[in-house]
Parts: sequence; structure tokens; C-alpha cells
Amino acid sequence: MFEHYKNGDPKTNYEKANQSCHDSQDKYNDVVTFVDYDHPLIQEALHHQDGPLAAIPIALKDNVNTKDLKTTACCHILDNYIPQYNATIVEKLINAGALIMVKSSMDELAMGGTNLTASTGPVANPYDRTRISGGSSGGSAALVASGAVAMAIGTDTGDSIRKPAAYCGVVGFKPTYGRISRYGIIPYSSSLDHVGVFTTSVKDAAISLEVLAGRDDRDMTSINEKPEPYADLLNSDLHGKTIGIIGNVIDSIDNENILDQFNALVDKLKANGATIQTVYYDEALLKTLLPSYYLIANCEASANHSNLDGLRFGVRMDGDDPTNVMINSRTHGLGPLIRKRFVIGSYGLFEANQEKLFKKAQRIRRLLVNATMDLFKHVDGLLAPAAPTIAPKMDTDSADQLSDQYLIADNWLILGNFTGSPSITVPLGYDHGCPIATNIMTKPFSDQLCLDLASAIEQASGFEPMKGDR
Ligand code: GLN
Repeated sequence: MFEHYKNGDPKTNYEKANQSCHDSQDKYNDVVTFVDYDHPLIQEALHHQDGPLAAIPIALKDNVNTKDLKTTACCHILDNYIPQYNATIVEKLINAGALIMVKSSMDELAMGGTNLTASTGPVANPYDRTRISGGSSGGSAALVASGAVAMAIGTDTGDSIRKPAAYCGVVGFKPTYGRISRYGIIPYSSSLDHVGVFTTSVKDAAISLEVLAGRDDRDMTSINEKPEPYADLLNSDLHGKTIGIIGNVIDSIDNENILDQFNALVDKLKANGATIQTVYYDEALLKTLLPSYYLIANCEASANHSNLDGLRFGVRMDGDDPTNVMINSRTHGLGPLIRKRFVIGSYGLFEANQEKLFKKAQRIRRLLVNATMDLFKHVDGLLAPAAPTIAPKMDTDSADQLSDQYLIADNWLILGNFTGSPSITVPLGYDHGCPIATNIMTKPFSDQLCLDLASAIEQASGFEPMKGDR
């Protein structure tokens, strides 16, 4: 896809992409804010048309701070927030020549997996408008799937890039924790938050990583390694590589179509030289992944967002005293899901509860990280379907949250956030006209290996985007 725009006239590319973004917004409601041609975000990029992303139209999730451009994280309390500065990645993208076309829709404050909670309304799936895009980076996924932009930035705390990528038939990549700076990105849960990209190919994801990666002194979790020419180094040779199939995930999936296509892919990977091994987590331990994730994420979120109170930050509602200003601002400015999560998070952080809730969840996290690192002693990558179903219908009642399918197959991608491992979703095929996908995860810092394996999977699955509703 990047090839398609390369060496194009930036103004022409902007005008075409602007029209496509408007079309995408009309059909799927995936845009929060359009960027005008005379905005500094575009004008400054015009000075860098010799960069690796020259004239390539892209989107930013609306939790990425953009100087002089509204940034709401799709949360009403931030409806009037206009940042004074650009996130580090925005500077990097401008310096690479990219054309930032839009800010994309997301679940409120990046909490959620449906994109039904955005302050601007639900985002529809470009393959079937009666279905969700997935979230929380749903607008970014839909904009790439509809072809409106060639790349979109997302954030991923539990699966918010990799799951919507699976539902929308695009590549979704989050690299190692700390590889991409988070400075200037509205946080969710600091020990789990990652920045990453949606693209239509693994190669484009590799090119994007090269632009985005690198040490940033303004992000204390930033790692001290130089970016590599990931795209030039891409190597899809599977000889000598061992891929572990996560047996617990496979065993908890009902959808035969997904299982058949996944097994056919595994046969191809074997034929192409990979050694395949089925591996298992302790099932009882694996089932604690989601509850411990929610505790950690909600606790960290309630602390991170304590400044959204109408006094220090956010739209202020009247009240008789500061406490009532806070109560009224928060009640008015935050949606019901967010309020519920803040209550759970605050409860988990009460001194009396910390030991049995927050700290216990952290200890479980350590057990799951250790179990994963043990598996990486024997395998190069861990592979499974990225999701056990196609994108759910907009009006589906939420899944049975105590089923194995939900606790394991629907949420195993959280392992990538617990460990900080690179993890990438690659489209695999279709079920009922909607995309299905696989995900591969490799050990922390092995971003090149992750992209290499993804490139081999991409070739073996031979996914072709369909026209369909798009
Ligand atoms: N659905 C998960 C949650 O709500 C993941 C969100 C994310 O990765 N930002 O916490």
C-alpha cells in the first residue's frame, strides 16, 4: 500500500485521501476530526518529502496529542482539550513526511473492545456494517480496512490494536514495550500501554516501526536500543524456526471454519520449513489472565485519570464546593463503563484491599510472564487464531464472560501486554464474508523475528482484501 502513494504529489495525495476519509466517515463513522490542508501538521510534513513516509496518508488515534488540534480520546470530559504540544510520535511522523489526515475514533479513554463507547458513536465494520469494528482502536482499523489511509496509529493495552485488526482484515502490530515512545499519548494503564500500527501488509508495518521506534528521554519506559532497518531485513524463511501453537486457545474455539483455516495454515508453515509444536499453559493459571488484567488495568487507569476532575483538567460543571464540582464534572463527562472501571480500580487500590486485589493480580501477572518465558525457551513464536469469532453484531449481548472461549481464546492476546512481547495480527481468510486472523507473539525485544514470522504467515495465508461493503 505504501508503494501506491510513494513519489506521489503530496497535495494530490492529500486531496484524494481527504475525500476517501470523508467517504469512510459517512459509511463507518470512524473519524473524530479532519485535518485541514493548511494545518501545521500537514504544512510541516511538506518540508520532509524526502522521508520514508513521504506523501503517505495516515491516521492517528484520538488519544495522541496533536498541537493545536482537538484531542478528546472520545471522552466528553476532554471535549474542549487542545494540546499545547505534539506527542513524540507525531514529530517523528511529520519528519518522515507522512500526511496526518484525521484523528480516528476509539472507545472512550481506550477502555473497551467494541468501539461502541466512543463519544462520537459506534464505528461500523467495513466488511459488514451491522457488525462492530472492534476496539479500542476501532476507527484506525476501519480507516485502513476501507483504504482511506495507508497506515493508522493505535494503542494497545490488552488487545486494542490486534483484535480490531483481526475483525477488519488488516495487519495490527504492537512491538516490544518501550520500543515506541508514549510521550504525549493519553494513558490508560501505564504498565500495559503500547503504541503500534495498522497497515495492509507486514512490510508496511516494518517500515512504520523504523520511523516510530527509538529512545525518548521524555518517556521513562522507553528502551535504549536504536531502531533497525526492519523492512530491509525482513526474512520469511522458516527453516530452523520453531512455532508453538497454543493448545489451550485452540481447544476453547468452537468455530470450525476458523479452526480449519488455521490448521491449513499450520500445514503450510510446516511445508515451508517450520517445526511445529503444540504447547500448553497450565489451564487454571491461564484462566486468571483476564481477571488479573482487569484489576491491574482498572487500578492504573483510576490513578492515571485522577486529574480528569473538572478542576485540574477537563470540562468543568458547576457545584457548590470543589468536591461537588468534581462529582458533577466526572458524572457528566465520563461514560458508565468508565465510571464502573474507576470504582473497581479505586476499590482495588484501597489500602485494605491492595494485598488481596492489586498486588495479588501483579503476582499472577509474574506467574504468567514466567510461564510464557519458559515456553520461549523452546519455541521462537507462539501462534493461535487472533479471535475465536468474526466481528460480533453491533447489537449482540455481551458474550458469556465465564466461558473458556471468552476467558482464553477471546483474551489470550493480553499475554503480549503482560510480557511486553512484540505481537502481530495477520489476516488469514473469511468466515461468512468477514475476516478472520492469526496472531503471533515472540519474546520481548525480538521485533525483527516477530515481523519475519508474520511475513512468512502472510505469504502462506495469501489473504486478499475483498471488495464487499467497502
Ligand atoms: N478491551 C480491553 C480493555 O477494555 C483492552 C483495551 C485496550 O487494549 N486499550 O481493557
